Amino acid sequence: MLNNGLRKVLSNIQEFVELRSLNTFNVKSKARFFLQLNSVDEVIGSIETIQQHPKRMVLGGGSNLLFVQDYQGLIIYPQLFGIKTVHEDEESICLAVGASENWHDLVTSTCQQGYYGLENLALIPGTVGASPVQNIGAYGVEIKSFISRVDAVDLDSGEIKHFTNDECQFAYRDSIFKQSKVGRFLITQVLLTLSKRPRLELNYQPLKDYFATKKQVTPQDVYDKVCEVRQEKLPDPKELPNAGSFFKNPVVSVAEYNSLKTQFPDIVAYPNGEDYKLAAGWMIEKAGFKGFVDNKVGVHKKQALVLVNHGDSLGDNVLKLANKVRQSIKTLFQVDLEVEVRVIGGE
Ligand SMILES: Cc1cc2nc3c(=O)[nH]c(=O)nc-3n(C[C@H](O)[C@H](O)[C@H](O)COP(=O)(O)OP(=O)(O)OC[C@H]3O[C@@H](n4cnc5c(N)ncnc54)[C@H](O)[C@@H]3O)c2cc1C
Repeated sequence: MLNNGLRKVLSNIQEFVELRSLNTFNVKSKARFFLQLNSVDEVIGSIETIQQHPKRMVLGGGSNLLFVQDYQGLIIYPQLFGIKTVHEDEESICLAVGASENWHDLVTSTCQQGYYGLENLALIPGTVGASPVQNIGAYGVEIKSFISRVDAVDLDSGEIKHFTNDECQFAYRDSIFKQSKVGRFLITQVLLTLSKRPRLELNYQPLKDYFATKKQVTPQDVYDKVCEVRQEKLPDPKELPNAGSFFKNPVVSVAEYNSLKTQFPDIVAYPNGEDYKLAAGWMIEKAGFKGFVDNKVGVHKKQALVLVNHGDSLGDNVLKLANKVRQSIKTLFQVDLEVEVRVIGGE
């Protein structure tokens, strides 16, 4: 016998749901099955239904995805809200944040309250639940520095798991959640520990220059500057659909970097441990793609790392352009560009 809760969840499965308004590339794609879940109990209660769909994925704000076809499996759309204080003392505060809370709203609120940590990560679209998936980062800061725990439901077993920071295996735009089988874990909440004592990261050049002469800098000051810099450079997906950086910045050895530097003396790169991280945006610009448009998709005119949808173009056209860019970069620099955005259907 099904209980009433489970009956309700099963009846909530929708079919052939248009995802266009649920992805920031604004590309058309239909989900064969679509299930919105409004509480952790609903997630647990619908495990058997979910397990009947081996092809499945969790959808957050759709700001790091490119659908290139209709999705033939089950899209799980959690709506898990709420922010609770888990622990607080003179030094720090630990917040448990529901996976579907808006990331930027959380940053706004913590900066307004004077907590240090998230200010460099302002204006990143999407949800809190997706933030550990690719270890979001910007202007010298990655979310891994503030995550104390990630709670998730293992959709294969139905168990609730608590991942410590180490267990998340964070790396550059990567984590266990990105590496595991697609659709295995549904993150329900993220525990973040923020500092009440000054702890700012101002090594990114525009921030360094701007704050060089300022004596007392607050998280709100950094937040304001980060928002200003981002608004100048990055297209707002509501006006020009996109998914942020389409490619990762490639990491190369010192020997490879030195060889590239000989051929391209103005190459932009940053030391990265024992290696070098190359600025993929510079390489794409050097290859002549900045501002390029074809089939209503293009390379953004101000930030070449961002591919944009100029109209009602399909995801497939974005992917074709991405492949063209990758081939050119390979030919010109002998470097492989890795895609940062998760491509659904064209894998
Ligand atoms: C204009 C713009 C600027 C951006 N700038 C940055 C930036 O500076 N730095 C950066 O790192 N990223 C950036 N991004 C990329 C993107 O915003 C982030 O990766 C964001 O964390 C994605 O959140 P989302 O909720 O939209 O996730 P989605 O795009 O919906 O999903 C992304 C991945 O996370 C998984 N996922 C989502 N929610 C859950 C969950 N609850 N449980 C398990 N898995 C889940 C999905 O299955 C998918 O694999 C930018 C994007 C845009 C459009």
